[in-house]
Amino acid sequence: MKTIKVSVVTPDGPVYESDVEMVSTKAESGELGILPGHIPMVAPLQIGAVRLKTQSKTDFVAVSGGLLEVRPDQVTILAQSAEQADEIDVERAIRARERAEQRLQEQKRENVDFKRAELALQRAVNRITVSEKHF
Ligand code: ATP
Repeated sequence: MKTIKVSVVTPDGPVYESDVEMVSTKAESGELGILPGHIPMVAPLQIGAVRLKTQSKTDFVAVSGGLLEVRPDQVTILAQSAEQADEIDVERAIRARERAEQRLQEQKRENVDFKRAELALQRAVNRITVSEKHF
């Protein structure tokens, strides 16, 4: 089966690089599946999992939003933060989830910090979910 090169890059550097048969993730507009030969495009991503099917296995990367760019020979995901499933510190994510839940209970919906806490909660839950994909 054909493959396409995928890189997941953050401001701290590259997080993942491989030749894959398919990339699946959640764009702002909905589920997105990219196969080799996909037309060039750019799509904003949600906080979510990126599923990368290689010839021998399926890898998972947690991304905190960002942009996915498809070029003829390469898919690039630029994310504010990203972690491969086996690199996620689950204890840390659980602590982050608890902090965010605490803040959400304390703050009123109109508060600017409410949105911030909601996003922190989404990042933490996403990390916990993605870490469970690593066996
Ligand atoms: P925390 O409150 O635990 O810092 P956060 O969601 O605020 O979580 P980010 O600002 O998204 O963290 O990320 C800061 C840096 O820490 C990034 O490099 C990110 O990859 C890394 N990071 C955050 N949480 C984890 C985790 N649970 N395991 C591994 N790396 C993490």
